Amino acid sequence: MVTSAAKPPKTQHGSSVSSIVYPDDHPADTEPGELRVSVPRKVAILGSTGSIGKSALEVVKSHAGSLELSCISCHRQLDLFEQQCREYRPRIAVVTDECNPKTHRWLSQSSPESWHRAAGEEALIQAITGPEVDVVVAAIVGVAGLRSSLAAVEHGKRLALANKESLVVAGELLLAAAKKSCAEIIPVDSEHCAIFQALESVELVDRIILTASGGPLRDWPLEQLEKATIADALAHPTWSMGRKITVDSATMMNKALEVIEAHWLFGIPAEQIQVVIHPQSIIHSMVEYRDGSVIAQLSPPDMKLPIQYALTYPTRTQATAKRMDWNSPQALTWYPVDPQRYPALELGFEVARRRGTCGAVLNAANEAAVELFLQSKIRLTDIAKACRSVLHHHNFASNPSLEELLEQDLWARQEVMRWNNSLC
Ligand code: NAD
Ligand code: MG
Repeated sequence: MVTSAAKPPKTQHGSSVSSIVYPDDHPADTEPGELRVSVPRKVAILGSTGSIGKSALEVVKSHAGSLELSCISCHRQLDLFEQQCREYRPRIAVVTDECNPKTHRWLSQSSPESWHRAAGEEALIQAITGPEVDVVVAAIVGVAGLRSSLAAVEHGKRLALANKESLVVAGELLLAAAKKSCAEIIPVDSEHCAIFQALESVELVDRIILTASGGPLRDWPLEQLEKATIADALAHPTWSMGRKITVDSATMMNKALEVIEAHWLFGIPAEQIQVVIHPQSIIHSMVEYRDGSVIAQLSPPDMKLPIQYALTYPTRTQATAKRMDWNSPQALTWYPVDPQRYPALELGFEVARRRGTCGAVLNAANEAAVELFLQSKIRLTDIAKACRSVLHHHNFASNPSLEELLEQDLWARQEVMRWNNSLC
């Protein structure tokens, strides 16, 4: 079990309480690099068939002896999942899509090794909250990852958080639950991992600077954007990721969600967060201090590094991720974001300022709109328009319960359908 106690946060705006563990926050009776956890550390990877999930499996494999695979999950893609089960041999494998007939067939197969099969979200939650798991890699895409993220922190597990939507939708609830159980939330998102590493003390921070690649359409003429096809939006220049986050990168909704994520994780007000376009994706983000010093984290774009950091923190272990090549010339550039090209970004700042139900509504509207775009029912440029309209028409509540957030999620998805129908 992870027994590390998270210190109370060093926030600037009082009301937000982050349970993130800062780099100097190791338990009083341990040294950095020495945690009171079981060795090997037992890892659950939720969403193992996805882009982050596959990288997480590689990281665990490359740390045999210090990390051990306890549980994996997926929703569909059962052939790949079965291969992963046979290759990586978790103790338990869970398919969350329990109503699918293919899942029933998968469940009825025999397991060649000593691993168990299970189906459904409840089975997954039971698996990750038991004593066989120390760290949960939250790599499910979308709000579908929220319940498992919450359950993990409620049970004091370290949450290696890739699923930014959990924080966007229910940041306040997730942090309160983590605070109560002394669970650690360690960011896997590369920008937040960078800030986590560069952050000495929140009180001394002037601003944090999130870098954005600008996505595949950053150099397109503005008037062409509405003609972008699915293939255009999915052709990311620097990162290979799942479809939803890749479309979010094209609209820069991904950075909007990351502004909200940073606000919750680090307790930093929206006014102290800035986004710059950095096409090379080498500087993963920066912290600017009062005195003008800027501390950045650099590495080639490879998610294995932040995943490994979240799994092995506070130690730093040998990595399989690509390294910087200091013998090759490399130019690093950045420039400001054009709000006309990326209207979604402003919505993230608005949500980080207003909080309450706004995150749940923006996230759900975006998930629904991205789905419509991927079904060729709306244009890429409609995504931000739909999200803005739904966000501005929702019934705001400042202190929502989980049930209220999930109701707002449902409402926002229906509103996007109505918005789309009104266009037809
Ligand atoms: P992906 O689409 O490649 O994989 C998603 C995984 O979630 C799959 O294993 C799938 O089976 C599972 N899943 C899908 N729907 C589900 C549902 N309803 N219930 C349970 N499981 C479900 O996505 P990804 O690119 O790996 O991203 C995963 C998360 O990590 C997202 O929140 C994303 O924003 C975040 N993230 C990804 C990257 C990246 O490089 N891919 C970087 C930073 C953050
Ligand atoms: Mg990111």
